Amino acid sequence: MAVRRCPKCGLVNPETAVACDCGWSFVREAMGTPLQLARSEDELRRDRRSGATRQLVVGTLMLLFGISAGIFLIASSQPTSDDPDVILAVARQQGKMLVAPTIFGIIGMIQIIRGLRSRNS
Ligand SMILES: [Zn+2]
Repeated sequence: MAVRRCPKCGLVNPETAVACDCGWSFVREAMGTPLQLARSEDELRRDRRSGATRQLVVGTLMLLFGISAGIFLIASSQPTSDDPDVILAVARQQGKMLVAPTIFGIIGMIQIIRGLRSRNS
């Protein structure tokens, strides 16, 4: 009669065995009972989903923060005179100030896209 030797503990099992006494599964070629493995895969999927949700929440918050910070910075730095030089200087300053909120918003959007993607996979 043919036998299969467990690669984990070396125990000789009958050819019809699906798992060794030590927990090695000949079907999955991994440790753990089929039930335990199925549950851990389920847990893994749940972990991935909650990670995706967290990513979506963080991304949305970052995007909203970037937008409101941008609006606040623009609103709080309006030119105080009609002098074209002043208007130009303020516009330049606004451009520099908007770099950080824009980066925040872009990172937020990337997080949202990645969250949606891994949620649907
Ligand atoms: Zn074994």
